[in-house]
Amino acid sequence: MEPMNKANNQVLLPSDQVVEVVQQNLLEWYGENKRDLPWRENKNPYRIWVSEIMLQQTRVDTVIPYYERFLSRFPTIESLAAAADEDVIKAWEGLGYYSRARNLHSAVKEVVAEYGGKVPDKVAQISKLKGVGPYTTGAILSIAYDKKVPAVDGNVMRVFSRLFTIEDDISQQSTRKKMERIAEKLIPESSPGDFNQALMELGAMVCTPQSPKCLFCPVQSVCKAYQQGRESELPRKKKATSPKSVDVIFVWIVSENKVLIEKRPEQGLLAHMWSLPTIEQAKKENYLEVFNEFCDTKNIQLTNLIIRGNLDHIFSHIHWKITLVQADLKKSVSLPDEWEWIALNQLHTRAFPNVYRKALQQLVSI
Ligand code: SF4
Repeated sequence: MEPMNKANNQVLLPSDQVVEVVQQNLLEWYGENKRDLPWRENKNPYRIWVSEIMLQQTRVDTVIPYYERFLSRFPTIESLAAAADEDVIKAWEGLGYYSRARNLHSAVKEVVAEYGGKVPDKVAQISKLKGVGPYTTGAILSIAYDKKVPAVDGNVMRVFSRLFTIEDDISQQSTRKKMERIAEKLIPESSPGDFNQALMELGAMVCTPQSPKCLFCPVQSVCKAYQQGRESELPRKKKATSPKSVDVIFVWIVSENKVLIEKRPEQGLLAHMWSLPTIEQAKKENYLEVFNEFCDTKNIQLTNLIIRGNLDHIFSHIHWKITLVQADLKKSVSLPDEWEWIALNQLHTRAFPNVYRKALQQLVSI
């Protein structure tokens, strides 16, 4: 019984015998052990779509309260499509990776405009929607519409790497493609949605990154890594480079119980979110020079600079080393377009990314 191997960059698919064992054991195990999660209550494609987008880069436990709040705020695809951008971002506030919310919002509008509010059930249509990649396409089509489409996420890649001793680097796109070919063979005609979820659940609950629970694993009898005692060696993944350190200044400018906030640029990190006026790439050695340049660019004058604290925040690829600086604004002719005065007691009405919320908590309790 040879499940699969790699030869000349070809994928050797698992044998029919292995496929049968994996299908049977996994579906039976899932039926008995699946977690009771709010997006598993029914097969509403919109609800499943929202959950899949929220779950990208975010743990299940973290997502649950956000998911429930978001769905009670926007219970139908039409209600989300009709919402103002600012309200959608506000409802997503704290979950991070805000481009997910913007893409979801714009894709949902497209579904309402182009497909009468019905989430498409064909790969060619759904995969063209903003923010819907191959994994999300497979998850929605299999779970909501029972279509036999692979949904290969990090959990599934880890399980396959071990089950079939695949040595390829799972951060490579070519490896994902191979895994999709294997999944296509493994997914049964009946219950493809349950099977895809069972694979993900196995990765999340049993075949975990550290210390997989092989003794309780439903597919242990056909697992090559287990047979060879190599489960801790797999999957293979190129070491991520550590995030680049950048000095950043948040400027805290208060006058008559109002504070200046800034709308970030349309593109790039934390695009179009509310923030405090921010100076990026601010070399610590020459703060004054940095401030002078900042004032020239914004056509303003800042005085009475006082350091109010420090903060660290790590995004996936960048490490902000933040200094919080209080300043007074000398009367200026006009404010930069992206700046706005807001009453201190109204700060909670705007959506700020986590890093700014942490700063605001230090500077004022909102
Ligand atoms: Fe993962 Fe162990 Fe199960 Fe193999 S036997 S799939 S390594 S948990």
